[in-house]
Amino acid sequence: MANTSFRVQAHKFSQDNIQTTLVCSKCDEVFSKEFPLDLEGQTIEFKCPVCGVPGEADLPYKSAEEREELEEDFEEAEEEEGGEEFEEEY
Ligand SMILES: [Zn+2]
Repeated sequence: MANTSFRVQAHKFSQDNIQTTLVCSKCDEVFSKEFPLDLEGQTIEFKCPVCGVPGEADLPYKSAEEREELEEDFEEAEEEEGGEEFEEEY
């Protein structure tokens, strides 16, 4: 058997990092871990903080909904999203 896997049970994107809740397939414990935003969508190897077994987790991509939530904080985002489509010949 290859690596242990850490299943992503829940995740949340903040503006600085990806906050995940993971389950270790070896010890079955749930733990939380934060990753840099750069690692979105990638497979990351690290050791289980509970039992210490090396394994890997597939980090999620940010969904469209989550992108919008974050963009609410930036005024610039409104220009990208709004505007053009609204005015489309109706
Ligand atoms: Zn473990």
